[in-house]
Amino acid sequence: MQGKTHMGIGAAVALLIARKQPGIDTTAMMTIGAAVGALIPDLDHDKSKISNLLPVKNKLFKKLCYVLIGAILVSAGYSYKLKYLYFGALYIALLGFAHHRGFTHSLLALGIISVAVLSLRDHNLWFYNGLVIGYVSHLISDMFTKRGIELFFPCKKNIRFIITMTTGGKIEAVLNYAVTILIVFLVSRYI
Ligand SMILES: [Zn+2]
Repeated sequence: MQGKTHMGIGAAVALLIARKQPGIDTTAMMTIGAAVGALIPDLDHDKSKISNLLPVKNKLFKKLCYVLIGAILVSAGYSYKLKYLYFGALYIALLGFAHHRGFTHSLLALGIISVAVLSLRDHNLWFYNGLVIGYVSHLISDMFTKRGIELFFPCKKNIRFIITMTTGGKIEAVLNYAVTILIVFLVSRYI
């Protein structure tokens, strides 16, 4: 599934969940968090929307950067006694060796990243909630594609729903229109 579809679905789900919230600021933070969270799993794909945003393109150099970032997080976690950062380091280290739709698309990764960003919860609960919602929406959406995902990684079995669609196909295009209309409708309630 394409990055824009994931972002749209993540944002729409967050808007639906937050629709009972009176404040536009909390809804906005949750929606932004969901749009970001919905892109994170595809960091394991070199041509994904989020990977294209990274300044490093070379595969080996990218792996080295992940190792470096992981080491910085471990050292910062030790120095500042922030135990959540260790989980961030673990996520990034495993990401460095991940194949597409493997680790990052699993319940294991969802658990690790949820804990890794737990410190956000104290300062920005809505962004944190949105991030996790977006991540979950990505995993569920990819299970509607023919390839499926390794949901129970390290178990290699690809998990998908009975009804599937082709990435970038006509059904996804229709889905994009539907999600856009839903987002416009849900946002218009705040205007
Ligand atoms: Zn994906």
